[in-house]
Amino acid sequence: MPDRTLRVCALYPDLMNIYADRGNLTVFERRCAWRGIGFELSGAGIGDAIDPGAHDLFYIGGGQDRDQALCARDLASVKRDALHAAAGRGAVVFAVCGGLQLLGHGYELGEERLPGVGLVDLDTRREEGPRLLGNIAIALDLPGGPERLAGFENHAGRTYLGAGEAPLGRVIRGNGNNGADGGEGVRGGPHGTVIGTYMHGPLLPKNTAFADWLTATALGVAPGYLPALDDELEAAAHAEAARAAGL
Ligand code: GLN
Repeated sequence: MPDRTLRVCALYPDLMNIYADRGNLTVFERRCAWRGIGFELSGAGIGDAIDPGAHDLFYIGGGQDRDQALCARDLASVKRDALHAAAGRGAVVFAVCGGLQLLGHGYELGEERLPGVGLVDLDTRREEGPRLLGNIAIALDLPGGPERLAGFENHAGRTYLGAGEAPLGRVIRGNGNNGADGGEGVRGGPHGTVIGTYMHGPLLPKNTAFADWLTATALGVAPGYLPALDDELEAAAHAEAARAAGL
């Protein structure tokens, strides 16, 4: 592995951290350390400007509606141009649940509409109906990435992608973006590096191959280029889940 450092910027790490989503950052940090890759983590809260060239990966965790409301306007104003510039040079933007809901045009909550950062063509709204809640598995078509992800979803907002936008994956079990169209998350942006998902858990401890795909993509190398780690337990868990699901 060349002498590289994965430089991560966590956006609103205190407000957007539902279901311990910050655990995803620990996975990046540990797997870099095990491989001898440097790791730098910085945080950017409300009012903080970000430098689009200073980070390889920008991360937003999930959040309750009230916490999202605090972040949405800041994201869509203070950080908007920098995030567009970062996605434009192929940096990864990885957003979970409440973060995913802020990646698009906006999030409609009854009378209120929170602005989105406009990195991808999607819109989210609260609708009548139950929360979309429970365990979820999705199938991916991600070059060099895992075939499936497993996680947990719990959201009231329903997300709808624009016609030209692709989901991150297709729902095998669970609800996904809106419980209706079979899509889960989003993968878009000029380089396909703007990634959103409803999957918590946190997601990456259960899906280490996806953590590696994100890491490699952020570093600009093919996923196979990262030295292998011992993922025997994770692979066994996925194999058992697939078997139980009849896949
Ligand atoms: N506030 C959002 C919703 O309920 C997302 C919640 C979350 O991040 N789990 O739709």
